[in-house]
Amino acid sequence: QIPVITIDGPTASGKGTVAHRVADKLGFHYLDSGALYRLTALSALRRGTDLADEHALAKLAEHLQCSFQGGDIILSQENVSDAIRAEEVGNTASRIATFPAVRHALVGLQLGFRKAPGLVADGRDMGSVIFPHAPLKVFLTASVAARAGRRYKQLIDKGFSANMEDLLKDLQARDDRDTNRAIAPLVPAEGAQVLDTSEMNADEAVDQVLQWYAA
Ligand code: C5P
Repeated sequence: QIPVITIDGPTASGKGTVAHRVADKLGFHYLDSGALYRLTALSALRRGTDLADEHALAKLAEHLQCSFQGGDIILSQENVSDAIRAEEVGNTASRIATFPAVRHALVGLQLGFRKAPGLVADGRDMGSVIFPHAPLKVFLTASVAARAGRRYKQLIDKGFSANMEDLLKDLQARDDRDTNRAIAPLVPAEGAQVLDTSEMNADEAVDQVLQWYAA
């Protein structure tokens, strides 16, 4: 069995950074499942797809022409690594992620990331839905304030403008939607280790995950 470590958690909990570093340390592949929802959202926004049309959105998801090259995310031959991080794309991703058909359309793509010697998968439902038998499942969280601060810094570093008040509001709205949706709601998977990183830096979180994995 090819091992999988799942790292789920709310938006801006630091799971991307932690998952990436854990993958590097172990020499494992890395799946940023949120990027798949963001790519679907970006495609929909660009094509002007009706964001209430579940069937059309699922079709887009199913036929995504995307690849992950090093740290870059390519959509139909265009490097969209930065474009998919825009707040509008994140908000749209969280809206379309409530559609069962969209989630279903992305399952095969996600399972395909499981390759030797192993995979670290980052998202909302990696441990609960996509890789329920993963030997290590982590649920990473942090306070809303800590997460808004991190997201602010991330956006500024990428050259986007950001406003703390709007970020807090968006974050809470997205938490609500991710937690309360009918399909694959954001809750710790059965057997998940919960790690609150509000007072922790990324290195400390990475060390904890590696310790759990080695145990
Ligand atoms: O993690 P990230 O912020 O990139 O994800 C964007 C949106 O995609 C999330 O707000 C969430 O609604 C959705 N998502 C999901 N399931 C995943 C990963 C992301 O529903 N496994």
